[in-house]
Amino acid sequence: MPALHARKGELAHWRRTLHAMPETAFEEHRTSAFVAEKLESFGLSVHRGLAGTGLVATLHGARGEGPAIGLRADMDALDIHEATNLPWRSDTPGKMHACGHDGHMTMLLAAARHLAENPDFAGTVHFIFQPAEENEGGGKVMVEQGLFDLFPMQGVYGLHNWPNAPFGSFLGRPGPMFASFDIFEVKVIGRGAHAAMPQRGIDPVVTAAHIVAQLQSIVARSVSPQEAAVVTVTQIHGGDTWNVIPDEVVLRGTVRSFTREVRDLVEQRFRAVVAGVCAAQGAGSEIRYERRYPALANHDGEFGHALAAAGATVGAGQVVPDFEPIMAAEDFAYMLEAVPGAYLCLASGPGANLHNAQYDFNDELIPVGASYWVNLVHGLLRSAEA
Ligand SMILES: [Zn+2]
Ligand SMILES: [Zn+2]
Repeated sequence: MPALHARKGELAHWRRTLHAMPETAFEEHRTSAFVAEKLESFGLSVHRGLAGTGLVATLHGARGEGPAIGLRADMDALDIHEATNLPWRSDTPGKMHACGHDGHMTMLLAAARHLAENPDFAGTVHFIFQPAEENEGGGKVMVEQGLFDLFPMQGVYGLHNWPNAPFGSFLGRPGPMFASFDIFEVKVIGRGAHAAMPQRGIDPVVTAAHIVAQLQSIVARSVSPQEAAVVTVTQIHGGDTWNVIPDEVVLRGTVRSFTREVRDLVEQRFRAVVAGVCAAQGAGSEIRYERRYPALANHDGEFGHALAAAGATVGAGQVVPDFEPIMAAEDFAYMLEAVPGAYLCLASGPGANLHNAQYDFNDELIPVGASYWVNLVHGLLRSAEA
């Protein structure tokens, strides 16, 4: 969209301003103020304070009544110490926009300004700026605090940059695209003893080792080979010295899957494996198993609309409608559980990967992503006579 490409330099400046002031979950105060000030300067009304720092700006089309849709960008940064030497690098040690949410905000702001200047559509667009996508589920909090009651809408759409795929291609798939994300902690309770007299204790180290090994059988032997799941133990903590069997060992890790059935199955098998192994060893256990983000699943009709808008932006040849599902998680899933919608990734070409200390959002993507948003609005909110 030429009007958006013509403002590329100014948009890159916004993005770099946001990049330089990264803020993490629910603390996006400077970020939220920057975004709100821009939205108001476009003449939009801004609703503040949803999920703390979250914002929703609303724009009514000039062609009258029509459906309402939501376009969502995430605002938070990560607890990573930026390792780039860019002039716009993070001003806050230990925090960094390493997932491109600075770019997501900019693309949505660019689209909001363009649509505010050219409101040639019928219906309503809600621009949703969400806090705390990383780990803390800001999307869930926005839904719980009434996002879709305060701003009723027929569809909601999300977009994420995606390094190391051909620049400008849009990637997506119908149904599950990102995995659900659960965490676990197991305390293996044994009985400490002299290391040379194991018969007088119950060894939680050996028990924990059996648990780690047995957990591998869940994906290998309990989940159907046609389904996907991950059970990864990421931490083992126990013991302090050479010659003492400790009382306890703690295991922690994460579980990923794509369907409710597999998610339930893995949790049930997880509990059975831990209890069974501990029983065999005479040890006790305490399990904390928390379900975090659900799987992100695109809705068929809305996914079709998103692909059409992507095709209108970059040509159908650059749209990949059967992208391989990703075992990472994304909290836009909560919005897609509440309202039909679709989520696409926008490829940014070669570069550092997401969540890497060398990462920087590719500013060339800004007009592409902004054009996608505008095309989506034009595709969905046609006036009656159009
Ligand atoms: Zn991320
Ligand atoms: Zn992200």
